[in-house]
Amino acid sequence: MELERAKYKVIICDSFAEKGIERLSSHFDVTYLPKINSQELLNKIHEYDVVIVRGRTKITKEVITKGENLKIIGRAGIGLDNIDLKSAESRAIKVFNTPESSTNAVAELTMGLIIDLARGISKGDFGMKHGNWLKDELMGFELKGKTLGIIGMGRIGTQVARLAKAFGMKILVYDIIELDKEILNEVGAKVVSLDELLSSSDFVSLHVTLTDETYHMMDEEKLSKMKKGAYLINTARGPVVDEKALLKALKSGSIKGAALDVFEVEPPSSDELVRLNNVIATPHIGAQTREAQDLAATLLVEKIIEALSQKD
Ligand code: NAD
Repeated sequence: MELERAKYKVIICDSFAEKGIERLSSHFDVTYLPKINSQELLNKIHEYDVVIVRGRTKITKEVITKGENLKIIGRAGIGLDNIDLKSAESRAIKVFNTPESSTNAVAELTMGLIIDLARGISKGDFGMKHGNWLKDELMGFELKGKTLGIIGMGRIGTQVARLAKAFGMKILVYDIIELDKEILNEVGAKVVSLDELLSSSDFVSLHVTLTDETYHMMDEEKLSKMKKGAYLINTARGPVVDEKALLKALKSGSIKGAALDVFEVEPPSSDELVRLNNVIATPHIGAQTREAQDLAATLLVEKIIEALSQKD
């Protein structure tokens, strides 16, 4: 059914790909305020049928209560932790996200971090910028033949496995669900217990969703089970790792290093962890590619158009 352009009003509260804004504007009355603050949103939300956010704007109970016309909350990306889902459900407001949009972007960043851990690219660059030629210090090693342990073999874990296979890495995986045999064969991955993965992997990469079970999954005990000289990569969610325990393990040298894109608190409340020499840190940039943002916008907009078409 053809939608009447001005029938629905949409407010976009965080930065959003231009393609998505154009497509939405051809159907709806769109307001784009990527820097709107929480008070401004509270003052305006009653005018809108749809609110779109990324990770910055919080759709709290108060916003939902004031949004008397709200029908849809759209999150361009995966995490829904900035949306009060209970309040949305109690008002029968639909919540859409696009978990599939950032798979490749996060997988590529993960490989970038793994290569950096093995070769010291960012250390070399830091040295060069400070007038230091660190050639002798930066003796690295190759990924070919090394073992990558993937915890959480979902969308991103699987894509990381595909990329790692191309580097000639051996792949071990651990997940709580039964994994697709075809995919395991395709990437040549072996399913093992968590303990076996930890004790056998040169790199352990986390790709689980954050749940009650995965909160602090990598605690002191699990970190102590990692092979001596191994590296941890977290591009999943900060709280999957107990940062205090990680700090201890990194300082004691019981693990060789870590690469972190996500943190228990973002930005981190203390810089002790990120300042360690054996840590590479990035500011939650896993999904920060033009392609992932375009895909998130496109997928989200189509979901919204379809849902509102069904309402008419
Ligand atoms: P997904 O749902 O496709 O995969 C998650 C996998 O984890 C599933 O196979 C699930 O069975 C497994 N899992 C859940 N609980 C587990 C447990 N206790 N033990 C072992 N395995 C368990 O999710 P995805 O799209 O692949 O995303 C993976 C992670 O990446 C999520 O935490 C997501 O929030 C994060 N992410 C980060 C960024 C970033 O910017 N760094 C961007 C997008 C997604």
